[in-house]
Amino acid sequence: MDDQLLTEARQAKERLIDAERDVEVFRAEFYRAVRRLHLHGASLRELAAGLGLSHQRVYQIVEEAGGSRRWVRSRKPGRRPDPGLLACTFCGETQNMVRKLIAGPGVYICDSCIALAGRVLGSGQAEDTELATMTAAPAPATHLKCSFCGKNRRQVDGLVTAAAVTVEQKQTSAAAAICSQCLALCDEIITEELSDNS
Ligand SMILES: [Zn+2]
Ligand SMILES: [Zn+2]
Repeated sequence: MDDQLLTEARQAKERLIDAERDVEVFRAEFYRAVRRLHLHGASLRELAAGLGLSHQRVYQIVEEAGGSRRWVRSRKPGRRPDPGLLACTFCGETQNMVRKLIAGPGVYICDSCIALAGRVLGSGQAEDTELATMTAAPAPATHLKCSFCGKNRRQVDGLVTAAAVTVEQKQTSAAAAICSQCLALCDEIITEELSDNS
């Protein structure tokens, strides 16, 4: 082996490693800057338009940088679901147990499930609630529809379905679904209402 060429190859390798480290640092800085904007009130839609990125990409960046907001559970120890109250279709918690419950036609979603569904869309990984498993519906699953706006999987960027697991029968049935557009809308409603309250 030519020693001179080997030295040159090693130096090139070092430079590449340095450059890759720089990319990671700059990426983390960028993600933090995006999240900071979001925490200062810019909606995901505004961020996407302002930065020339897709809504989904902005969402992923915000999540990777530490998430949209820290949800503080208002549930107090020993609080139980009240059958007389409206409940989140996705997790079963009643309106007294969640910060915010958003209603669709015969369907409800709470702030925690909105955040969770967003994570499922961002990562593609399934997440469990007390009641159901949330999964991102694959694009060919055109028979699945958003419970809130009625659009099917093909008409939206992403769709999260919640399948209730009945323990006795070990069967799953699609209980409800929410699309990326409705999720973004819910997220904005909650942001507005929470900032109004503070
Ligand atoms: Zn819920
Ligand atoms: Zn929808």
